[in-house]
Amino acid sequence: MTPPRHQEHKDHQDPTSWRTYRPILILERCVHCLQCWIFCPDSSVVVKAGKVVGFDLEHCKGCGICAYECPDKFHAIEMVLEKQVKV
Ligand code: SF4
Ligand code: SF4
Repeated sequence: MTPPRHQEHKDHQDPTSWRTYRPILILERCVHCLQCWIFCPDSSVVVKAGKVVGFDLEHCKGCGICAYECPDKFHAIEMVLEKQVKV
């Protein structure tokens, strides 16, 4: 049996178990300026061939910095409640 403290530590490393919000990319609004990628503290914005394609939800902490840094005129990232997307 896993001691409680170890279990807590394991959960801490798995953001999917405690994250409140997750970022959603609205691709049609994104101009691929990469501001979100630059500012994400967890390197969880996924970029392929110079374009944002989504988020690494295994590591994203749901902090919302990417959405905050996305320029207002594009507003290409929305933070949504996990419980709204989980079935
Ligand atoms: S900051 Fe916004 S517009 Fe720029 S790449 Fe990220 S999602 Fe796209
Ligand atoms: S919510 Fe935070 S951790 Fe997740 S992709 Fe955005 S900036 Fe990175």
